[in-house]
Amino acid sequence: MRLKIGFWSVGIAVVLIVLVLSLTVSSCGKKRYAFISGTTHMMGTEVNITIYPYDEEADSQYFYNRTLEAIEDVADIAAAFRQESELYALNQSAGADGGYTVSYTLMDILVKSREAYELTGGAFDPTVAPLVFAYGFNYHPTTGEESKPHSLTDEELEKLLPLVGFDKILLDEEGGVVFLPSGMNIDLGAIAKGYAADLACDGIYYSVKGVMVDIGGDISIRGRKPSGDPWLVAIADPRDPEKTLAELALTGGCGVATSGDYESYFEVDDERYSHIIDPRTGLPARWVISTTVIAPTATLADALTTAVFVLGVSEGIALIDQLADTEVIIYTEEGGELIAHYSVGAEELLVADEEK
Ligand code: AMP
Ligand code: MG
Repeated sequence: MRLKIGFWSVGIAVVLIVLVLSLTVSSCGKKRYAFISGTTHMMGTEVNITIYPYDEEADSQYFYNRTLEAIEDVADIAAAFRQESELYALNQSAGADGGYTVSYTLMDILVKSREAYELTGGAFDPTVAPLVFAYGFNYHPTTGEESKPHSLTDEELEKLLPLVGFDKILLDEEGGVVFLPSGMNIDLGAIAKGYAADLACDGIYYSVKGVMVDIGGDISIRGRKPSGDPWLVAIADPRDPEKTLAELALTGGCGVATSGDYESYFEVDDERYSHIIDPRTGLPARWVISTTVIAPTATLADALTTAVFVLGVSEGIALIDQLADTEVIIYTEEGGELIAHYSVGAEELLVADEEK
């Protein structure tokens, strides 16, 4: 039996959420389990949430609402171009003598960003913000101004590159103060969705059997499905995102994230330049067309997938192969054909065609 239990709205934007509560039934000898799932639009993308409660009597709607609130909290904090966001205010403080006092959550995202920056040798670096805007890939981090993707001149690059480097930011974790040098800006677009997915799952995980939160392909999974089946995650075809290239079968306690060149790009002489910037050169990364990372958390998967996109196939796989419980699948395009490249254990996670 399937029961649609209503529409709901949240936060400043009125969003439509379709909730489906499926109750435990035995039909044709196949047992089905109670779950609640819904789809909405947050953080500029589609959000899908699935929760398996311990039993039918559990207040699933309450747990569902908690996940939405966690995502909304991160969106309020970490959207660089939202004038009301905390990150916007931090960016405006650049150069202030006393630094800027931030919330626990923003400091936590920045500390995790610094860890990812160090782990990836600087390939993941949220201080590419001035370049991202100069290329026209995003709204301006402090004025909210919009522009169209285009290439930069060598002079422009020379001017902007000195403003890049997470190691130039001082994080006073105890005091909760961030010192952002003058002219520098932070863009958390490559980690915030993964962080929000983790926060949403972690907030309810101890009270439910299993939960999966998917924010535009950045996915956090905790716990198990009551049936014992694995959680399935599809990898979209980067050249036709409506199509699926592969399917992953995952157990709980992990995160999955994908970065693709199809999300935002410009073309020069038929070459595609993506919205992911190589912080070493200031140029858009262009070796691969899609990367999917599976890691212990969605936060780490999100940061790593951006980093692997920058590093390319061999350096990217070498980085991932050093990390425990972390895998990557990279797609490149050669002669019009998609080629898949895997880290050592990645193929074991794929659902074989005959199992589909
Ligand atoms: P993702 O889709 O997670 O790979 O994030 C891409 C977004 O992160 C871009 O749209 C930029 O806003 C930002 N970004 C671009 N290049 C980098 C980089 N090398 N490190 C961190 N963030 C980046
Ligand atoms: Mg990312």
